[in-house]
Amino acid sequence: MFDKILIANRGEIALRILRACREMGIKTVTVHSQADAEAKYVKLSDESVCIGPAASNLSYLNIPAIISAAEVTDAQAIHPGYGFLSENADFAERVEKSGFVFIGPKAETIRLMGDKVSAKAAMKKAGVPCVPGSEGALSNDSDEIINSAKKIGYPVIIKASGGGGGRGMRIVHTEAALLNAVSMTKNEAQAAFGNPVVYLEKFLEKPRHVEFQVLADEYKNAIHLWDRDCSLQRRHQKIIEEAPAPDITQRMKDKIGGRCADACKKIGYRGAGTFEFLYEDGEFFFIEMNTRLQVEHTVTEMITGIDLVQEQIKIAYGQKLSLRQKDVQLSGHSIECRINAEDPYTFVPSPGVISRFHLPGGPGVRIDTHAYGGYKVPSNYDSMIGKLITHGKTRDQAISRMKIALSEMVIEGIKTNIPLHRDLMNDMAYQAGGVSIHYLEKKLGIKS
Ligand code: ADP
Repeated sequence: MFDKILIANRGEIALRILRACREMGIKTVTVHSQADAEAKYVKLSDESVCIGPAASNLSYLNIPAIISAAEVTDAQAIHPGYGFLSENADFAERVEKSGFVFIGPKAETIRLMGDKVSAKAAMKKAGVPCVPGSEGALSNDSDEIINSAKKIGYPVIIKASGGGGGRGMRIVHTEAALLNAVSMTKNEAQAAFGNPVVYLEKFLEKPRHVEFQVLADEYKNAIHLWDRDCSLQRRHQKIIEEAPAPDITQRMKDKIGGRCADACKKIGYRGAGTFEFLYEDGEFFFIEMNTRLQVEHTVTEMITGIDLVQEQIKIAYGQKLSLRQKDVQLSGHSIECRINAEDPYTFVPSPGVISRFHLPGGPGVRIDTHAYGGYKVPSNYDSMIGKLITHGKTRDQAISRMKIALSEMVIEGIKTNIPLHRDLMNDMAYQAGGVSIHYLEKKLGIKS
């Protein structure tokens, strides 16, 4: 096994990876910005290296600084976590070229899946059902664009091939608005992602977001770890996730999960990954693949008992998957609430010092957070400061435990979205299960 791993990330996920390494007897190196010098997980790691000032582009996105840190500390592998450089193919390539192991897929796979047009084409070929849409990228020919949209049927959504994080998308309801919207999205995509390529998809009106977790090794063994429902979103950002997705037959999940695992073998996928689908009227439609660990991996861990970070590390070391599909046994139900330092209803970030901090506990409660009383939430990064996860024998029990946990949880000095989570756990439609991706914004009166 590796002797030492460098964690190229911050916050709760840095701590999560650190814990996995410690359990496996692997030493850790954390890299941190000046703003995170006092973070708890930095102190817990065996070694730490300051890689730059607070701004992410000078620290957590600073590839040469991260590679130098691995060199000076003799780390053998680099775990990118999620966000930052985790889906950056150039980073993966530079890591491997410098003689370190990148804990994730090959650079070429990241590149293939990072481009949504090529990802969709690869998935279609592998037999994964996709959202009906244009045949690949849109050309510059106005008639072709108009015909393509007509064939799909309005409303359509224009999506940037290089897009991510819920950006680079525009919904179009009428032919009159189409061409203008395409050229605006192209310009925005060029400015934001350096890639003007866009494509069309049918805009699904009331889908749910349901995704499948996969694990694959270098030897073309691949399994899926079932599904998660992440439909509670705001501006395409997930807020609450759960596993398994309610109200979808096991037979259907078996079929789609199997297709995902097969697709991994076909594209030579390595590591942990997620196939994201929209689910509407009993059908699954692939939208994209995330070639990394996800924030919501925890709910899968809770219902399968499998440590996904440890599996990633074992795969990266070159081990064969020790699990077969039939070894993945599901137990109960799990829910995750993302705890963000923000106003619960306006979503305006609320950085600052946490004055009081009391965490809940008890059976079926898991908390992944790097925060503590006296911790200063920096203003430079994502507002998520932790995740509260519950597990129960049933969905109702997981909700009930979440309600109790949220009622016990105290974070003062900054605003958090805990009040929103409390509301949502008491929401009748959420309790019934299976709300669409638009539900939260409608409930909050936000126009998307
Ligand atoms: P990103 O990489 O930016 O996360 P995705 O392709 O995963 O982009 O889409 C993000 C979100 O946008 C989805 O979870 C869904 O809410 C919405 N979305 C994407 N494609 C469609 C579609 N065809 N119809 C309706 N909503 C969509």
